[in-house]
This record gives sequence, structure tokens and C-alpha cells, in this order.
Amino acid sequence: MNENRHKLFIISSPSGGGKTSLLKSLFEDSRANSLWMSVSHTTRKKRKGDQEGKDYYFIGVEEFKTKVKKGDFIEYAQVFENYYGTDKETIFSRLEKSNVFLEIDWQGAEIIKKIFPKSLSIFLLPPSYEDLRKRLNNRDLDSEEIIKKRLSEAKKEISKCMDFDFLILNDEFTKALSELKKIVFENIDSRKFNSRVSSELLKNLLD
Ligand code: 5GP
Repeated sequence: MNENRHKLFIISSPSGGGKTSLLKSLFEDSRANSLWMSVSHTTRKKRKGDQEGKDYYFIGVEEFKTKVKKGDFIEYAQVFENYYGTDKETIFSRLEKSNVFLEIDWQGAEIIKKIFPKSLSIFLLPPSYEDLRKRLNNRDLDSEEIIKKRLSEAKKEISKCMDFDFLILNDEFTKALSELKKIVFENIDSRKFNSRVSSELLKNLLD
């Protein structure tokens, strides 16, 4: 694969980090026609509003394990109690045609970064755990028990954010979207990217 031909973007965030609505707006931009969003396979049960083939390919655990054995996934991980994987062949063939966007967790991001060192990884950070808790409550998708689990996982996920090329603070939708667009459409260098994530904010999130 010629890694220079098309770009590979990875975005990660703790659940409730606001990824879904940001990505929806990103893909509504007229420049997004050169961008393809990967659809993962998962063993997670469908949630309200989830569409087969658009949000995920929903498969059973046995089928997932068979695909792992066959080497179908370029990366896969267990996130909470479910498995998620990115189809290898699809990624390689898509990269021949367009830029590719992966929405995966930090474990998958680590693997992809090793395979494609030039891929650009983005981590979306909430301004606080309180904000994350509110978002998880407001989206009304998970039970109270799952929300608690997701919040305790969030700390571990956030502790991995320094391995990413770009840190976006998702405190205000418009600002976060404009930063995301700069990275994706304007080829901004990660060293020149003026992240609004301060060391104080990181300290608060990681302490
Ligand atoms: P959700 O079930 O809420 O859609 O996603 C849960 C987590 O799984 C999110 O952090 C999401 O980024 C991650 N995820 C989704 N697809 C993949 C994948 O193919 N690989 C990995 N490693 N993580 C994924």
C-alpha cells in the first residue's frame, strides 16, 4: 500500500465525548466527498437508532471470533463487554480511492498507528467528567449502571490521550468542529495546531 496516497484519520474519545454529532457535521461539509467513514463490526446489541451497515455491522460473538481467526480485522478490541473490529480488506481498498476515517478506541488507534505511522490521530476531550456524565445522561441510550461503567472507563481512556497527534477540546461544538475541519481538510501540521487543551485541564482530568 502506498501510504502517501491517501490520508488515514483516527478519532477516539471516551463515550459521551460528543464524537457522533461532530462527525455528522464534518461529513456534511462539501469537502468531505474525498473522505470515507469506516463501518466497524461489533458484537454489541443494536441501540435505538442504530442502522445496520451505517453505524455498524452487528454480528454475533461466534461470527466475530471466526473473523478474528481468519485474520479479517486489521485491528479489533474489546470495549466494555463487546468486541469491535475494523475490516482489513476494506481499509486497504478504500485507501486506494480516498481518505479514510476511523472512529475507534485507543487500543485500536495504537495498532493502526503502528501499521500506518503516518496516520493522523485525534483525541476528543471533554472539559470535565461532569460534562461527560451530563452528555451520557442526555443521550438517553444507556442504563444508569452502564453510565457508571462508562465514566470509570473514561479515565483510563483519557490517560491515553497524549499518544495522539491532535487533542481537541469539545467544550463548544462550533469551536471543536472548526478544529476538526482544520485537521481533516486543511492539512494542519500537528506541531502547529493550537490545541485548547491546557495542561491544567489535563491535570484535572487525569488526577
Ligand atoms: P459504541 O458502542 O458506543 O458505538 O462504541 C464504543 C467504543 O468502541 C467507542 O470508543 C468506539 O470508538 C469504539 N469502537 C467502535 N468501533 C471500533 C473498532 O472497530 N475498533 C475499536 N478498537 N474500537 C471501536
